[in-house]
Amino acid sequence: MTIRLFDEDHYLKKFNATVVGKDGKYVELNQTSFYGKGGGQTGDTGTLNGERVVMTEYLDDERLVHVMENEPEFIVGDIVHGVLDWDRRFRIMRLHAASHMMEYYLWKHFGDMKRVGSHVDERKDRADYLRDERLDSEILSKVENDTNKFLVEGHPVTITVDDDGIRTWRCGPVEMPCAGTHVRNTSEIGSIKLKRKNPGRGEERVETSLRE
Ligand SMILES: [Zn+2]
Repeated sequence: MTIRLFDEDHYLKKFNATVVGKDGKYVELNQTSFYGKGGGQTGDTGTLNGERVVMTEYLDDERLVHVMENEPEFIVGDIVHGVLDWDRRFRIMRLHAASHMMEYYLWKHFGDMKRVGSHVDERKDRADYLRDERLDSEILSKVENDTNKFLVEGHPVTITVDDDGIRTWRCGPVEMPCAGTHVRNTSEIGSIKLKRKNPGRGEERVETSLRE
C-alpha cells in the first residue's frame, strides 16, 4: 500500500520516495504527498525528478498511481524527489475548506438539502443539491456574505482520525467526515463568491470560487 504523506501533513510540498512500480507512464511509489483523485477532490500534479506528473489516481483502495506526461527515465528501486504544484494544491485546499463552510450557511438560509454530488479543483468547487425550486439569488448572497464573514474571523480547522481510520473535519460549528486536504485556518482562504447553476431537473448547483 502507498503511505499517504498528505494525511499527516496537508502542507508537505516536497518529499523523497522509492519507485515500487512502473508501467509506461504510470508510477507507483512507496509513499507520496500527491493527493489521489477521490472523495470529490481532484488529484495532484507536479514533478518526480523534474518529470511532469499530470494526475494522481487510485489503482485500488490502497495504492496510488502517478500518471506521468511521458514515460520517465527512472526505474523501479530508484529514489525520486517529488514536488507538488503547490499553488494549485493550495487553491484546492482553500476552496475545499470554504465549501464546507458555504454549505453550513446554505443549509442555514435555505433549509437542509441533500447533497448528491461535489467536485473541487483549483478553479472552483461545485456542489449539487436535491431541490425543485431555484435558489433565490438574494438569499444566496446572504450565504456568501455570512461565509465570508466567518472566513475572515480566522477560525482554526482540526482533523481527527478514529480507530477505523475515519477522518473528521471540524471548524467552528461544522463537523463532517472528510479525507480531503484543507487549510489550517480560515484566514488563509480570503473571500469567496458563489454562483448558482442548474445541473438538471430537481437539482441546484452552487459553485464556489475564490475572489483574488
Ligand atoms: Zn473536506
